[in-house]
Amino acid sequence: MGENKDVWVFSEKYDLTLEIIGKGREIANTLHTELAAVLVGSGVEKKADELIKYGADRVYLVDHPALEHFQSEAYLSVLHSLAIKYKPDILLIGSTKNGKPLAARLATRLETGCIPDCTELSVDEKGRLIGERITYGGNAVAKIIFRSKPQIATIPARVFKKLKLQDRNGEVIKLDVKIEEPKTEVVETKPLETSSINIEEANVIISCGRGLEKKEDKALLEQLANIVNGQVGNSRPLAEDRKWFTEWVGLSGHKVKPKLYIACGISGVIQHVAGIRDAKIIVAINSDPEAPIFEVADYGVVGDLYEILPALTEALKKRFQ
Ligand SMILES: Cc1cc2nc3c(=O)[nH]c(=O)nc-3n(C[C@H](O)[C@H](O)[C@H](O)COP(=O)(O)OP(=O)(O)OC[C@H]3O[C@@H](n4cnc5c(N)ncnc54)[C@H](O)[C@@H]3O)c2cc1C
Repeated sequence: MGENKDVWVFSEKYDLTLEIIGKGREIANTLHTELAAVLVGSGVEKKADELIKYGADRVYLVDHPALEHFQSEAYLSVLHSLAIKYKPDILLIGSTKNGKPLAARLATRLETGCIPDCTELSVDEKGRLIGERITYGGNAVAKIIFRSKPQIATIPARVFKKLKLQDRNGEVIKLDVKIEEPKTEVVETKPLETSSINIEEANVIISCGRGLEKKEDKALLEQLANIVNGQVGNSRPLAEDRKWFTEWVGLSGHKVKPKLYIACGISGVIQHVAGIRDAKIIVAINSDPEAPIFEVADYGVVGDLYEILPALTEALKKRFQ
């Protein structure tokens, strides 16, 4: 494999495809090669030109009614046939719930390796892809290179930025590929309940952790958020264990970059802090003076959030209202 030097990008999520094209473009430029996007689905042809405008040189388009919904075997057979035919050097695949196993299965079929969840990608002096991924529960970054080709890496959402839409020309190659019969059937699809608020865009975030005793106590954070025009966030256990929220801030959740992040009753372990590194000012409210959050906080308040939050809300209310 790997006679053709192209860099390929694929995700069944369109927005993620655009983000990966952003990084793929940079890698293709470094390697003086071309960037191709693989567009798979039903009725997706109209998106091909846009992928070029976002940075792809070429789009391999497989548009078929059987590909309307993501089906592992069907999508795998398409990507596998294309990779065998065109022999890309690098394949960057969206690290979604579907994309990650797809990449791993593709790697197995192509007898090559796969680096999951890359948070950085670069190229060494020999033109080999270097994938960086967070490991040991967020305490280290592993830099990995391949000993086989093609080089397959998966990329989570919001790691790279999509490029600006440009007036560019490229080639769209429409293909008829034999689609493997799925071994499973989609019986029903339901939208996932997620918050309608885009926390990544928030200027002020008031976040709570396990220091919050009851779900109803979220109101304490909401009252403060209302005054400072902020949004409420939370650590992972409040979503995963207590099911009070559907999403969270941190390494495996949303990476936020507000002007002000107020962490209330959050210990501040590395996995949470990984998501707030880009916050301009971090304020921590924690009853434990030894809590690690104070190491990253610009301002720390040692105390009970049940006393501090109402007092802070009251003080700011006087100031802003
Ligand atoms: C692979 C992996 C990925 C992970 N990803 C994430 C992630 O993306 N985001 C995330 O948040 N976590 C993540 N975690 C979980 C993470 O390791 C921690 O378990 C979690 O962040 C702890 O949440 P917490 O700070 O709310 O709870 P705790 O660690 O239990 O801390 C609670 C804090 O509240 C303080 N407190 C208690 N009562 C009060 C009070 N009345 N007033 C003030 N302070 C009080 C305590 O002193 C304590 O510091 C991940 C873990 C793994 C293994």
